[in-house]
Amino acid sequence: MNFDQTEQQRALVAATRKFAEREIAPLAARWDEEEHIPRDHIQKLADAGFFGLTFPEKYGGRERATLDAILVVEEVARHCSISARLIVDHNFGAVDTILNFGTEEQRRRVLPAVVSGEKLISIGMTEPDAGSALVDLKTAAMQEGDWIRINGHKRWITGAGEREYTLVYARFEEISGSEGIGAVLVEMGTPGFQIGRRIPTLGVRGLREGELIFQDALVPKNILVVPPGTGFRLLMSAYNGQRLAASAVALGIAQGAFDYALAYADRREQFGQRITDFQAIQFKIADMIIDLEAARYLVYRAASSAVGAISDRMETSLAKTYTSEMAIRVTGAALQMMGGEGYSREHPIERMCRDARMFTLAGGSTEMQRLAIASHVLGRRLPQHRDTLNSAELGMVEHSDEGG
Ligand SMILES: Cc1cc2nc3c(=O)[nH]c(=O)nc-3n(C[C@H](O)[C@H](O)[C@H](O)COP(=O)(O)OP(=O)(O)OC[C@H]3O[C@@H](n4cnc5c(N)ncnc54)[C@H](O)[C@@H]3O)c2cc1C
Repeated sequence: MNFDQTEQQRALVAATRKFAEREIAPLAARWDEEEHIPRDHIQKLADAGFFGLTFPEKYGGRERATLDAILVVEEVARHCSISARLIVDHNFGAVDTILNFGTEEQRRRVLPAVVSGEKLISIGMTEPDAGSALVDLKTAAMQEGDWIRINGHKRWITGAGEREYTLVYARFEEISGSEGIGAVLVEMGTPGFQIGRRIPTLGVRGLREGELIFQDALVPKNILVVPPGTGFRLLMSAYNGQRLAASAVALGIAQGAFDYALAYADRREQFGQRITDFQAIQFKIADMIIDLEAARYLVYRAASSAVGAISDRMETSLAKTYTSEMAIRVTGAALQMMGGEGYSREHPIERMCRDARMFTLAGGSTEMQRLAIASHVLGRRLPQHRDTLNSAELGMVEHSDEGG
């Protein structure tokens, strides 16, 4: 496959790089330290045209290819993973679900507001007792005339309390298994919808990870985005794009760490010579480049074959698994190459190591991705649920690997 960038893509990457170096890089450490990214910076990302990159123009989008959006995410992540995650959340996942499966009225109401940065959106899937086994989620949605009543508890929701919309995955009418799962769009301020506590994290600290609590929250029926029945399959297919975009964040973080550590190592002298003159360091550099390029190939290949922002399950799992583990290896090697300086908070490498750590967990853990890959290779579903009697409904790999 040929991944030579087109003229247009080169211009997009160059413009993104310029923006990231000027507007993002100087502030990324502060947002990590303060554990907050200001709304006016998020607005700058929207104003730069980074939200809704692949969306039709009629919703404010730029009609770019999925690979173009992935290139933007990667470039921004070289400097700041949380800015990159914001771009992911406003191109893939929840917004893409609305674009592909929502009603025209929902698309017109939500997408232009999200693309312009006026409103932000989260994805609410995970619960205290439903992580990898998302199909066990319990948040209950009951239809009552023109309303849907929601009761439940979500955990690990990125942007909880800071974003106007959340696409909430819920179980409808107490129907068990994947067939009961659909998704509704809930607005902040809905009576009965509260923001729970913040979860302190190792990395990506500028984004609030938190809990959502629904106690008899009543939302109008017309905000049902994906109904139950076959809905869960649609939700998972749309979520695949977000998983792929998360791989691009991991790739960008690793590339950023490599670039920074390489520049340092080429300046740093010990034993009267540059440390890049030592073969042990040269081998480290070579291994890091091999890892980065292999990951880049998998990410770009999955992005190139995506239809809209919906990517192939197998290609996405290959990219996600390899890239998330690669990012841990490469950021670790970058820190090692910088010696004690790599451990100092005066350089961005320690932040990059912390930020890179999340990708084997969030967006479907690497264990769940491996199960999906094996399931594809073996040509059959691999039941995970202990209650195999219910395995037609519960815990199939295809239905169980999830996350934000
Ligand atoms: C930084 C961050 C941001 C997140 N953002 C969001 C978000 O915005 N929205 C959202 O809904 N969720 C979000 N999540 C949640 C994320 O999707 C879950 O953490 C993820 O799906 C894993 O679920 P869990 O944490 O409950 O782990 P568990 O499911 O409890 O798994 C624990 C361990 O067991 C392994 N395991 C579980 N089942 C199996 C199996 N069958 N075979 C082999 N190994 C298995 C897992 O791989 C993992 O290593 C986020 C998480 C993090 C860390």
